[in-house]
Amino acid sequence: MNHFISDKLRAVPASGIRRFFDIAATMSDVISLGVGEPDFPTPPVIREAAEAAIRRGATRYTSNHGLLELREALAEHLHTLYGIRYEPTTELLITVGVSEALQIAMLATLNPGDEVIIPEPAYVAYAPAVLFAGATPVPVPTRPEDDFAPDPALIAAAVTPRTKALLLGYPNNPTGAVLTQPVALVLAALAERHDLLVYSDEIYDRLVYDGTAHVCFAALPRMRDRTITLGGFSKNYAMTGWRIGYLGAHPTLAAACVKAHQYLIMSAPTVGQYAALAALRHGEPYVREMVAEYDRRRRLLLTGFRQMGLPCPVPRGAFYAFPSVAHLSPDPEIFCERLLLEEQVAIVPGGGFGSSGAGHVRVCYATAYDKIEEALDRLGAFVKRVAAGELAAMVR
Ligand code: PLP
Repeated sequence: MNHFISDKLRAVPASGIRRFFDIAATMSDVISLGVGEPDFPTPPVIREAAEAAIRRGATRYTSNHGLLELREALAEHLHTLYGIRYEPTTELLITVGVSEALQIAMLATLNPGDEVIIPEPAYVAYAPAVLFAGATPVPVPTRPEDDFAPDPALIAAAVTPRTKALLLGYPNNPTGAVLTQPVALVLAALAERHDLLVYSDEIYDRLVYDGTAHVCFAALPRMRDRTITLGGFSKNYAMTGWRIGYLGAHPTLAAACVKAHQYLIMSAPTVGQYAALAALRHGEPYVREMVAEYDRRRRLLLTGFRQMGLPCPVPRGAFYAFPSVAHLSPDPEIFCERLLLEEQVAIVPGGGFGSSGAGHVRVCYATAYDKIEEALDRLGAFVKRVAAGELAAMVR
């Protein structure tokens, strides 16, 4: 049947991390620090708003742009947090998660031959989104010694006459890196100098630690019109299954995205949109509680890694840590597979997020504190055995 598959789809590699989830799904007693999904249920006040929406029959399409009430609340929310003002009727679009927002933003703006620079390690769906839009992803490495912050000099060196856009995803999946104001300002100047569009995936904007202030790229001086802000409810409010995200952009860019959205999707799920509205209105205390708990788990992991000698840049955002296991195994895929089979702990090899992730593993701490404690015990025992040479043949 392979001849029926399109060349475009063939050109997109299968997800490098899926295999581990498939193996883990066949096993019992696995502690998963694999999937990047909050373990918390959606806060009750949000679920109740959705139930009420169903009961009063809010079951039809909304406007293509999404519920006006939700866009208005979102405009207010972004203004309060970042001082940016998006006009709700012309500059905000409610999407089916950031997943859809990414696809339509690229569909609306990229031509074949265009290049999109992506600092990596990066979220696995970025390069495929660029390829689906017919353009070319250009990965640029980041380094653990820089805490995986994007390096403006390397990015500048990757710019060619074909470069159309820069895709930033901070706080970062998989490294937990955040964008600092000084680095963001240099990138902004670079975007201006080369007339680049910037897709800024800020889905983890609320999940920041150690007093870090999230940098909203569009809120930087002169960046508003060349930035497409992508954001969502999945991570901040523990709402992955509701499938609600958004896109904020200059009216011309937003209108092009709406065109793609209306033919592909029509409108984001109505009940989910009412749930998102409740999240904006009443979700703040829950966000604070969840962030405090993620922070506790993050510190637990960092202490654990230190004790077992795994070097790990301090992650200041999202809910991932990205320690190195290079000194234990030349092939983190094997490391993760053996850890899963022998200790029933699921983590994912970093190479799946780009070649500069090689040698690292992604550990997600959106799992209960006591489970992380147990996982650390198991990982520690495994690391000890590996270091003692028991698993000498840790290469394929
Ligand atoms: N962007 C990043 C960086 C992510 O990690 C994810 C999900 O893991 C998404 C986007 C997709 O999120 P959504 O549920 O809003 O489609």
